[in-house]
Amino acid sequence: MPSGISRMNVLLLGPQGSGKGTQAAKIAEAYGIPHVSTGDMFRAAVAAGTELGRRVEPILASGQLVPDEITIALIRERLAQEDASEGFVLDGFPRNLAQAEALDEMLREIGRPLSIVLLLELDDEICRERMRKRAELEGRADDTPEAIERRLEIYHRDTEPVVEHYLATGRLVKVHAERTIPEVFAEIGQALEAAREREVAS
Ligand code: AMP
Repeated sequence: MPSGISRMNVLLLGPQGSGKGTQAAKIAEAYGIPHVSTGDMFRAAVAAGTELGRRVEPILASGQLVPDEITIALIRERLAQEDASEGFVLDGFPRNLAQAEALDEMLREIGRPLSIVLLLELDDEICRERMRKRAELEGRADDTPEAIERRLEIYHRDTEPVVEHYLATGRLVKVHAERTIPEVFAEIGQALEAAREREVAS
């Protein structure tokens, strides 16, 4: 993979179970940029028993979205940290149009547009199957059948408009996610290289 690259600002979109977390971690490792996952940050706050954690714990367990003002503030703070200054891979944010607009505004302020938006596409039935499997392996509080359905419903209702929003920028690349982890990552790697060449050329 690449060497000594910087300033890749990557956004990963896709339904629950599409492999966003796995692929984001692989991109972060390959490009030496931080993996910024709002879900991971909320789960860490719950595990640490912070005030934020106590506040969001029941919301996560139910599969609902944490209020925008909390989530946007969290991301604003995270992207302002030193390690994100040379790039980042965002996973799990934005989840709705208000968050997408807040992100666009934040990135405009710091003069750092998204290099690429990757959409991991997967059928609902496969998402359900993968989440059920993950429930057995990891026992995540929000992988109950009710929370799984709620999260998929919210994805279609609130997050799909975010896909439309980024389609309009011409930076969105669709990736078929019903394949093995290395297969998906190989395709992502090609898309990232193409985006990087475009950035270098511009
Ligand atoms: P994830 O690991 O991305 O599936 O996120 C787990 C849970 O954290 C979600 O079901 C939400 O309750 C919460 N969460 C994560 N990211 C966001 C976000 N961008 N906006 C609101 N809630 C979020």
